[in-house]
Amino acid sequence: MTTILRGIDEARAALAAWRASRPGARLGLVPTMGALHAGHLSLVERARHGAEAVAVSIFVNPLQFGPGEDFDRYPRTFPDDLAKLQAAGVEFVFAPEASELYPAGGGGTRVQAGPAAAILEGALRPGHFDGVLTVVAKLFHILSPQLAVFGQKDAQQLHLIRSFVRDLDEPVEVVAAPIRRDADGLALSSRNAYLSDQERRAALAIPGALADAAAAAERGADLAGVLTAAEQRIGAEPALRLDYLTAVGPDSFRILGGEHRGPALLLAAARAGATRLIDNRTVVVGA
Ligand code: AMP
Repeated sequence: MTTILRGIDEARAALAAWRASRPGARLGLVPTMGALHAGHLSLVERARHGAEAVAVSIFVNPLQFGPGEDFDRYPRTFPDDLAKLQAAGVEFVFAPEASELYPAGGGGTRVQAGPAAAILEGALRPGHFDGVLTVVAKLFHILSPQLAVFGQKDAQQLHLIRSFVRDLDEPVEVVAAPIRRDADGLALSSRNAYLSDQERRAALAIPGALADAAAAAERGADLAGVLTAAEQRIGAEPALRLDYLTAVGPDSFRILGGEHRGPALLLAAARAGATRLIDNRTVVVGA
């Protein structure tokens, strides 16, 4: 049975009762903004493997949207989401109103994301990662999970969440789940719902570019050649506008120079019409 929790006190009480009835049992948390797809459900599956019960949060977090971003039109599909989570056997769904997590708009305290927030998504979306980490901290403090699952799809977010947990001694094991894709290769995203048919066809150049980059790396290209292969594919798609295409160290999350050899995490962000899409893939340069 799935218990729906709307309030902070209600959630704490329900989880305390569950813990009292199952001493030593682990809770796995999957934070989401709803509009759930198979990528989210793969995170639920992963949480299930490491925990006796799974909690999914559904909250479109106003703190992580900038002015002019899609907060107002972000898809909100709670009845469908709930049906999927019930079918997946999720024990707890925490779906608070914004006024519950941020009474009177919130007090202004923020978790400040680490240095990797200065580049890429963080540079283009000022304050975004502070907003993400603030709500993740609140979810950790309200639900007290032993394990939390995040998608590799949001690689920079994952890196910053790992740093946050390490730096602030959060007693939570962070687990990464691989990117789930549609049959055509497009990474699943709640924002794919915004795409017209034509935009969706254009968007396929993003995973296509990452595949071209991987093929170039396998042929022995250096990092500049790998990035050029990807840029050419995206450049050939007039309906896409590239925000960035960059290689970072998979662990350091520092931007790599042309002399780099070894594993490199390629990160791409591009816009199809008004929709911003991100994707990534690890390649090995100079293997
Ligand atoms: P969101 O609802 O977009 O905030 O995403 C909630 C969680 O699902 C985050 O940890 C995302 O990284 C993860 N996620 C989103 N899309 C995918 C995907 N295609 N594959 C795997 N995880 C994903």
